Amino acid sequence: MRVSRLMLVTLRDVPADAEIPSHQLLLRGGYIRRVGAGIYAYLPLMWRVLQRITAIVREEMNRVGALETLLPQLHPSELWQRSGRWQGYTAGEGIMFHLEDRQGRELGLGPTHEEVVTSLAGELLRSYRQLPVNLYQIQTKFRDEIRPRFGLMRGREFIMKDAYSFHANDEDLRSTYAVMDQAYRTIFERCGLEAVPVDADSGAIGGAASQEFMVTAEAGEDLILISEDGLYAANQEKAISKPSEAVVLDKGVSGLIETPGLSSIKELCEAHHWDPSQIVKVLLLLARLEDGGEQPVLVSLRGDQELNEVKLVNALTERCRQPVLECSPLSADDLSRQGLAGLPFGFIGPDLDDACLEGARSWIPRFLRLTDCTARELSRFVCGANHPDQHRVNESWDVLSGVQDGIDLRNATAGDRCVHNPDVRLTEKRGIEVGHIFQLGRKYSEALSCQFTNEAGKSEAFWMGCYGIGISRLAQAAVEQHHDDAGICWPASIAPFEAVVVVANIQDQTQASLAESLYQGLIDQGVDALLDDRSERAGVKFKDADLIGIPWRIVVGRDASEGLVELVRRADRDVRKIPHSDAMKTLLRELRP
Ligand code: ATP
Ligand code: MG
Repeated sequence: MRVSRLMLVTLRDVPADAEIPSHQLLLRGGYIRRVGAGIYAYLPLMWRVLQRITAIVREEMNRVGALETLLPQLHPSELWQRSGRWQGYTAGEGIMFHLEDRQGRELGLGPTHEEVVTSLAGELLRSYRQLPVNLYQIQTKFRDEIRPRFGLMRGREFIMKDAYSFHANDEDLRSTYAVMDQAYRTIFERCGLEAVPVDADSGAIGGAASQEFMVTAEAGEDLILISEDGLYAANQEKAISKPSEAVVLDKGVSGLIETPGLSSIKELCEAHHWDPSQIVKVLLLLARLEDGGEQPVLVSLRGDQELNEVKLVNALTERCRQPVLECSPLSADDLSRQGLAGLPFGFIGPDLDDACLEGARSWIPRFLRLTDCTARELSRFVCGANHPDQHRVNESWDVLSGVQDGIDLRNATAGDRCVHNPDVRLTEKRGIEVGHIFQLGRKYSEALSCQFTNEAGKSEAFWMGCYGIGISRLAQAAVEQHHDDAGICWPASIAPFEAVVVVANIQDQTQASLAESLYQGLIDQGVDALLDDRSERAGVKFKDADLIGIPWRIVVGRDASEGLVELVRRADRDVRKIPHSDAMKTLLRELRP
C-alpha cells in the first residue's frame, strides 16, 4: 500500500474533545473519525488493526473448538420479555436502543446476545449427546451508554467477540470456563497486551463466577485491587478485604449530646476528638425497582468506610427479588415531593422510624435497612439521634430497634489487609476492561425454558457460560499501553502494517527507485509493507511515521547513492545505518524469527 493512496489525514494538534492519549493518537494518526457521540468510523488503518486482532481471536476460539456464527442484531422484544430483561434494559438508565417496526412491534438493537442464542440452543440442542457446544461471533454491538467517552473505549456502537457455551452440567461448564480463561490469556498476550485477570461482579448479565481481564493503564475507568503477593486480584466493585481495626470508644460520656451544626463525620470527629471508625454513619437512598416501585433504603456504615454501590445494588436486588434499576441519595426535595416532612440529615441514626415515611405518595412506606459488617461489629459507637443537632454516644446495637445482620457493603481500598493472608496488603491499579467471562449457570435457560434431555431421560435446563472481548476497545487499550510522546508504538502482532519504507525525497530518482525496489522486495517476501511515496518534506513523513506507529521503518535518504539506508525500530527508536540488502535481511529476521 502506498501512503499517497491511503486517504491519510494526520492532525498536528490535539483534538479538543480527546482527553486520553490513546484517543488523541488514534484521531491524530488518521485511524478513526468521530461521526456522532460514541459513534466512530474505523478508517482503513484502523480497520487493518481490528482485522488483525479479529484474526488472533478467531484462531484462538477455533483452537478451543468454539464454532463461529453470526446472530441478528435486531432482537424481538418478546425474547427479552421472556428473560425478564426488557424493562431493565430499555427503561430508565437501560442501555438498549429500541424501536418500533411498521407493524408496531418492538425491537431492540443487540447489546449482548444471551436471549437470542439461548432460544436457538433450546430449539436445536435436544439431547445431552449434542453437548457441550460453544458458539461465538464477532460483531457490532449497540449500547446507549450514559456517558460515551474516550473514543473507542466506551462507544455506543462497538465491535465485540461474544461466545456462549451450553453444557449438560455445572462441572462441564466449569471446565470450558477454564479453557476459555486460558484462551483469553493467550489472546491478550498475542496482542502484545499486559492484561490482569480479576474477580468481577456479574452485573446485569447475572450468574455465578465471573472474571474480567484488565489492561493496566492510567486512563482505565476501573479500579483494580491486587494483593502484594499476586495471589488475589479483583475489581473494586467486587473486591473484599479486612477492614482496619476500629478505635475503641472511650467509655466516658454516654447518651444524648448536643452537636449543633456538626452534620459531617469530619466536623463531628474534630469537635469531639473521635475517630471516624467510632461513628456509625447512615445513608438515605432511594431504589427504583423494575416493577416501578420506589424503595427508601437506609444503609449503616462505619464512619471511615465508603459505600460500594455495586454491592449495594446486588444486596437490594436479592432482597427486593427483582432488578434494581437505580439507587441514588435521597434529598429534602424528594421528601417534599412525596408530601413528607423533612428529616434531620446529618443527624440520622440506624433506627430512624418508618413513621417518617407514612403518607408517602408513591414510595413504599418502610425503609429497607442494610448494615455493613464494619458497623455491625462495633460494640459501642456514636450515631445520629434522629433529631437535629444531636448525637448519641456509646450507643449499642442491642438497644436499637430493627437491627439486621451485617453484610459486606463497603469498598475495599489500597492498603487494606487481604482476606487470604492478613500480612499481605492490597495495592491499586487502574484498568481497562477488555474481556469478561461468566459462568451463567441456568439463569437464561430457565427463564427462557430452554431444555435438553439428560442421560437419565429427564428434561433439564442447560448450564451456560458466556465470554466477551471488546475488540475495538482492545485496539485502543493497546495504544494506551504502547505509545510515547511522538505517537503510537503498535505491538507487531496487531500493527496495521509491519514495515514502512519512507523516501526522504521522492523527487530524487536514486532514492525513489531504491525505495521502490525495497518495497517490492518486502511485498514479495509476504511482508505487510507501506511505502511513503508522498511529495511531502522528509520531516513531515518522519513525524507521521512516528505518529502512526508502524513497528519497523526503512528510511531511504541521501545515502541511497551509496546503497545505505536506515533501519529504525519504532518502539525504542533504535537506528541502524546499513547497506540496503542487510536492512532487508535484518528486517525479515526480526519479523519472521
Ligand atoms: P463496562 O463495565 O466497561 O461498561 P460491561 O461489563 O458492560 O463493560 P460486557 O457486557 O462484559 O461489558 O461486555 C464484554 C466486553 O465488551 C467488555 O469487557 C468490554 O471490553 C467491551 N465493551 C463493553 N461496553 C463497551 C463499550 N461501550 N464500548 C466498547 N467496548 C465495550
Ligand atoms: Mg463486563
